[in-house]
Amino acid sequence: MRVLLVEDDEMIGQSLRQALGSHGWSVDWVKDGLLAQSALADGDYACMLLDLGLPKRDGVEVLRHARASGDVTPVLVLTARDGLDDRVAGLDLGADDYLVKPYELRELIARMRAVIRRRDGSAHSVIGSEQVRLDLTTREVMVQGERAQLSAREFSLLHALLERPGAILSREQLENRIYGWGEEVSSNAVDVLIHGMRRKLGPEAIRNVRGLGWRIAPSSPAALSVLPVATAPAPLSAVREAGAP
Ligand code: CA
Repeated sequence: MRVLLVEDDEMIGQSLRQALGSHGWSVDWVKDGLLAQSALADGDYACMLLDLGLPKRDGVEVLRHARASGDVTPVLVLTARDGLDDRVAGLDLGADDYLVKPYELRELIARMRAVIRRRDGSAHSVIGSEQVRLDLTTREVMVQGERAQLSAREFSLLHALLERPGAILSREQLENRIYGWGEEVSSNAVDVLIHGMRRKLGPEAIRNVRGLGWRIAPSSPAALSVLPVATAPAPLSAVREAGAP
């Protein structure tokens, strides 16, 4: 999943980008408030990690601007400020959660997943079809009932395709979801990924639409709807959509 990191501290930014990268996140890192605004306007982010003390435009202003313009990207405020006023201001303006530095990476990742899950709605944390199920919380992938091992990039690609059932996603759209800025992307990177995934998911699982891109192959009329999570009570409508009797 792709995340926007807004942090002006060089050391914190470097280490966060690297650490999150090693956990399968694709990180776009900007170092001031204005760049954060334009990145947010252009990008498709699972969440934003936002420092409050930033050059050019304060984090609080970035958040205010984002929410005022209807941006609903989940925001996790990361701040050295432990003043109650800042936290309250951040949450009032629509931050989903905050962490005070220093924090543990494990906690950060858990909170990131939580804000993303909350925004998606609990009934949306498992997506897929009868053949392929993707648990967005545990990142578990089930193919025909068997657990499959997917790399972080394969997971992101499958997530993108399953999120918009039937839609054809172009090479550029898929690259945007999988890779961060400045990452070297070879011209056939997506083809190579899909080739590998077909071996795991079945040769027909991902269809190529010549000249346009790729889409996931529907498996049945009930396929590709949002499935309720087994452990959480799902709204009735979601159960019906999933094809339950
Ligand atoms: Ca700062």
